[in-house]
Amino acid sequence: MSLHADKRQALVIGAGLSGSAVAYSLATRGWAVTVIDKAEGPGAGASGLPAGLAAPHVSPDDNVLSRITRAGVQATLQRAKALLHSGTDWALTGVLEHNLAGKRRLPVNATDHHSAPASAAQVAAAGLPPDSPALWHAQAGWIRPRQLVAAQLRAQGVQVRWGQQVQGIERRGDGWAVTNVQGQTLGQAPWLVVASAFDSLALLRPLPGLTVPLNPLRGQVSFGHLADLNEAQRQLLAPFPVNGHGSFISGVPTPEGLPGWFIGSTFERNCEQAPVREEDHTANEVRLATLLPALGLAMAGQFDPERVQGWAGVRCTLPNRLPAVGPVDRKRLPGLCLSTGMGARGISLAVLCGELTAAWLNGEPTPLPDALIKHLAADRFVSA
Ligand SMILES: Cc1cc2nc3c(=O)[nH]c(=O)nc-3n(C[C@H](O)[C@H](O)[C@H](O)COP(=O)(O)OP(=O)(O)OC[C@H]3O[C@@H](n4cnc5c(N)ncnc54)[C@H](O)[C@@H]3O)c2cc1C
Repeated sequence: MSLHADKRQALVIGAGLSGSAVAYSLATRGWAVTVIDKAEGPGAGASGLPAGLAAPHVSPDDNVLSRITRAGVQATLQRAKALLHSGTDWALTGVLEHNLAGKRRLPVNATDHHSAPASAAQVAAAGLPPDSPALWHAQAGWIRPRQLVAAQLRAQGVQVRWGQQVQGIERRGDGWAVTNVQGQTLGQAPWLVVASAFDSLALLRPLPGLTVPLNPLRGQVSFGHLADLNEAQRQLLAPFPVNGHGSFISGVPTPEGLPGWFIGSTFERNCEQAPVREEDHTANEVRLATLLPALGLAMAGQFDPERVQGWAGVRCTLPNRLPAVGPVDRKRLPGLCLSTGMGARGISLAVLCGELTAAWLNGEPTPLPDALIKHLAADRFVSA
């Protein structure tokens, strides 16, 4: 019997939204999956974001990004409905997009897409002046990513090894082995999925003929507790998240478990570290004042350093704002897959990418048409 008699075994490096989604999708198809993460628990990377949005992108020509995010948001919302508690872990609230720059236009047949011009009542509920340009995304809401990660990792068939940093990956026998800094083997399997966000770059660099141009993009959210707001401030809170220039979310539990408000995020290119910075709170205060001017004015005192809390993380981006997913090079690197480069849309994309990877590995029809898949496929980074 060969070492890999059962080919339905996979190692996944990284237990964030990307890795946990791949693990869940494979495990629910009967695969045995071992996830390895250098951290001691879920949410060590960007997926530790306290609260974020699953919301579609729209464009007049319903472009590739719009079609992919729409499919991704649907997949995420279905997964959230199946695995998470509504109201504490996620909620299908709908999202109002304040169309500040006037650049977001709906396609002509937008009725299919659950996105429409916002009604006067929705604009008023957001606390915006009646003439504010705004869209309403009905199939959208907030999610606490760490909760989704933890729930996906609980799937039967998924084993997680925390506190193990992968230093190298190598082809061994007819499969893949991953090793630590001492050169010890941490795991071996016929299939390996690299889902370690920006750190994937260092693991992939030694492989011939592959250049995945991953970039780090630091971001910070500012947040506080609703209990610290006065009545006048609370009156101005919308009953749904608002995006369009960053995003504002309220009523979602903070990491301490108390109902909170959240505004983010900053964007800092080429930054691999994620310290919380005071100047980023100031930037988020300005962001809120632009997105929701009345609320921004009322909340000014909430950004004082002794009051406001912050969380920062590193997104991992690719040039076309779409991730790198699936088999890398079936001929030269058989069994090696990626699920990385989720950028600022991991909540909207990671579940779909997990399903796509599992469909490929399991020999099933894929959940997206080929015309869209080619824009996500990891093999687009293979050089001849
Ligand atoms: C401020 C901010 C706001 C955001 N807001 C939104 C939003 O509203 N909507 C949205 O859709 N997305 C949002 N995102 C993006 C989203 O959070 C990310 O796209 C997503 O979390 C990425 O998931 P991931 O699993 O690819 O990466 P990560 O969550 O970073 O996971 C990578 C994992 O790999 C592990 N790892 C790394 N290297 C190794 C190694 N060598 N060995 C073992 N383990 C390793 C890490 O410990 C980590 O757990 C936001 C991101 C930030 C930073």
